[in-house]
Amino acid sequence: MERTRVGSIDVIALVDTVQAYPAAGVYPKAADVASRYSGYLDGEGRVELNFGCFVLRDGATTILVDTGLGPESNGQLLAELAAAGVSRESVNAVIFTHLHMDHTGWNLDRATGKPNFPNARYLVPKGDWDHFGGQNDQFFKRDVAPLEALGRLDLLEGERVLTQSCVALPTPGHTPGHTSVVISSAGERGFILGDVVISPIDVAEPSLENSFDWNGTIAGETRRRLLDRLSGDGSLVGGSHLPAPGLGHFVRANGATSWKPL
Ligand SMILES: [Zn+2]
Repeated sequence: MERTRVGSIDVIALVDTVQAYPAAGVYPKAADVASRYSGYLDGEGRVELNFGCFVLRDGATTILVDTGLGPESNGQLLAELAAAGVSRESVNAVIFTHLHMDHTGWNLDRATGKPNFPNARYLVPKGDWDHFGGQNDQFFKRDVAPLEALGRLDLLEGERVLTQSCVALPTPGHTPGHTSVVISSAGERGFILGDVVISPIDVAEPSLENSFDWNGTIAGETRRRLLDRLSGDGSLVGGSHLPAPGLGHFVRANGATSWKPL
């Protein structure tokens, strides 16, 4: 867990869990990735991926961005929230950057089927609702589809003002409806990125395709555009899978961009 501020907005990074994946599996089109980026890998050539979620507090409004892998992976989101002093009841909205199962795991209580955030609307990008709802996706059925019958579902399309300082912005490519959250407060900027960038390797080489992207071409365009924007405007960045706890800045020097943790 780590907390900081963007203007008057509290930004809290929560770590559900961390898992390591072989670099050759994450970047299958780049056979030499493990040797070129060994400095970003563990001793066994694996990329350590954080599974992070973020709380944004704007005055009386509390937003949770993504809900992690969930209890089956020994996820710590609920404990992290408690440690941060954020009660589940205080969450007004849960917004999803996208509907991959590592972002929806704590939506519902497994035993009761009730929402883990009892007073929250669940804001779901419509592009992903349509995409994953049209597949026979067991995790969509477990975590997302029930929100409709529970009366908690709120579909997002295009930009959406969430609070005075937070706006949901479509950033497609990783999935069709992938969405980020832009923060602007008191002249400061922040950006909860989702999976537009998943590791410091993507930052160094944004054209590198990874095995999780729905559309590598669109994902690469979005990645390059946002790396330009966010390294240029000094935004605080929160990335779901960037090294735990996932807060930092994109920094450009000598024509190269890199990830600088907070
Ligand atoms: Zn993810």
